[in-house]
Amino acid sequence: MSTPPTTPTGPVERLRTLRDQVDAAAVASGRTAGDVQILLATKTIAPPVIRAALAAGFDLIGENRVQEVVAKADDLADLPHRTHLIGHLQSNKVNAVLDHVDCVQTIDSAGLAGRLDRRCETLGRTLDVMIQVNVSGEDSKSGVAPHEVDDLVDAVVALERLRLVGFMTIGLRSDDRSAVRAGYADLAAIRDRVVGSRTPGAADAGHLSMGMSGDWADAVAEGATMIRVGSAVFGARPPVA
Ligand SMILES: *Cc1c(COP(=O)(O)O)cnc(C)c1O
Repeated sequence: MSTPPTTPTGPVERLRTLRDQVDAAAVASGRTAGDVQILLATKTIAPPVIRAALAAGFDLIGENRVQEVVAKADDLADLPHRTHLIGHLQSNKVNAVLDHVDCVQTIDSAGLAGRLDRRCETLGRTLDVMIQVNVSGEDSKSGVAPHEVDDLVDAVVALERLRLVGFMTIGLRSDDRSAVRAGYADLAAIRDRVVGSRTPGAADAGHLSMGMSGDWADAVAEGATMIRVGSAVFGARPPVA
């Protein structure tokens, strides 16, 4: 008896499968295949592995730490891609982040937004940003509380160099899928309210960055326009210290 042939699966194969699954989920939720972007969460992943994904056309990556963005930048520079910051940004890293990042998804204070705007002015550039919202209310999560969103939106859209492109959240860590989904529905409602508010500068805030390896399907069902996926593509990460 012969064993059936096995196809080797690596990150790129898993990404292609995921792309198909995400497209199917988008269609199932009344949208179009391709409407949901896949951001590769590349923390702890070595540049050669990231390069293989970029070369296969998966060109949107997210890093949590500015030091890691800087450390990998040279190794990725020759392959077209966009980099988002998806971890908390400390004020003293504002200058470094702007050298390498196309979008900061983790705006959580007017002060941070103002520092980014001033630095952009010096550099003569603009920056896409998202506001991070802590919809689950867990103490461990960064982001503003839902009731603080409107004030932060007003502060961000008043800044000439920042373009508010949407909202980001880290979902509730729970096996209770309906509770996780409720958080994603809350973020979608916040986005709808802000975009519909006619606040000048808020009309472009359409992105919903939500959903990770374990729960992206729930996030897509609730309207995610961008999911952030790491371990489902790259395998388990070493635990963070
Ligand atoms: C690591 C990380 C992800 C991806 O998590 P996985 O569960 O590995 O898919 C998404 N978003 C943020 C902010 C992360 O830090």
